[in-house]
Amino acid sequence: MNYHVDEKGYYGDFGGAYIPEMLYPNVEELRSKYLEIMYEEEFQKEFNQLLKDYVGRPSPLYFAKRLSEKHGTQIYLKREDLNHTGAHKINNTIGQILVAQRLGKHRIIAETGAGQHGVATATVCALVGLKCIVYMGEIDIKRQAPNVARMKMLGAEVRPAMSGSKTLKDATNEAIRDWINNPVDTHYIIGSAIGPHPYPDMVTRFQSVISEEIKWQLKEKLGKENPDYVVACVGGGSNAAGTYYHFLDEPEVGIISVEAAGKGINTGKSAATSKLGRDGVIHGCKTLLMQTEDGQITEPYSISAGLDYPGVGPMHAHLARTERAEFISVTDDDAMQAGLELSKLEGIIPAIETSHALAIFDQKKFKKDDVVVICLSGRGDKDLNNYIEYFDL
Ligand SMILES: *Cc1c(COP(=O)(O)O)cnc(C)c1O
Repeated sequence: MNYHVDEKGYYGDFGGAYIPEMLYPNVEELRSKYLEIMYEEEFQKEFNQLLKDYVGRPSPLYFAKRLSEKHGTQIYLKREDLNHTGAHKINNTIGQILVAQRLGKHRIIAETGAGQHGVATATVCALVGLKCIVYMGEIDIKRQAPNVARMKMLGAEVRPAMSGSKTLKDATNEAIRDWINNPVDTHYIIGSAIGPHPYPDMVTRFQSVISEEIKWQLKEKLGKENPDYVVACVGGGSNAAGTYYHFLDEPEVGIISVEAAGKGINTGKSAATSKLGRDGVIHGCKTLLMQTEDGQITEPYSISAGLDYPGVGPMHAHLARTERAEFISVTDDDAMQAGLELSKLEGIIPAIETSHALAIFDQKKFKKDDVVVICLSGRGDKDLNNYIEYFDL
């Protein structure tokens, strides 16, 4: 079984590039050049240097002793929360800004929901001095004021998307419209392992630094490169794709994908795509998608903004269909409790997205000697208000 993208941009049944004809030249330019650019020696040197000096990599692999004792297994946390800007997203935006420069682009656009990807994009645009426009739903702009302020401080222009539900999907549509109108000078930085080919593969390769480091870090600590399990939360699927990448073809490594069940899988307020999704097309790729009988996209729900997405990246749809990955759905309540537990047991306040990945231990039992690596995708600072309200702190 092949878990990597094929030459046509597919992971099994999923992937491809389902785009309007007017977008074809932009996507084709990227598709024909991305691998050559990424694996050029100069590029690798600059990318790795920035990951080291600017992002703060390698991120530690931390043995969580008290958490391990509590759950009767060996839990290691991959500390992406310690990256500059507080999550894994910066790995991708650094990579893409370097690609944009080599494609000769002067203008960067991005979509954002909660604002995390917008901030990561505004950050790298400031770093290299490129113009940055971030599309964001009007409702999200109101809900996520601190991130809007961050983007502005970093020099980005935040443009409201006023159509539809005025959230992420509408911001994405606006970004695509902009790209169609500015094909020559603009690069579109997509924030997860989604979108038309080659985006899912490009984003996955940039994030694969996570599993590359896990391998040598485990070798250093335990004398072996492979854990028994790797675990990550899946929104669009970029931190998960990066965490799994170098283990996909290692059958002895179990892959666990954690998605948001929201108020419960069958409550109508959920984002559990592997359980509720059917084959469909969203944002330029064929994947598993939550939709009505007649193919209208269903509004997803999760307490965590980063997991509140009606699809998953095509790699994850393929991992679900082939059962290479085991999907576990975690409710808002269970995630919030797991976030509190990590804070109290290890002194680490996680992002609520990450809290979902930490909440699997009631549903999945591990052996005492199992080595379980969980991607700690982000820190909880941005979610403090949510935690305050939920726990009445
Ligand atoms: C954005 C985000 C996610 C979800 O995005 P993926 O592309 O699925 O990784 C998960 N965790 C954190 C901390 C995030 O900011």
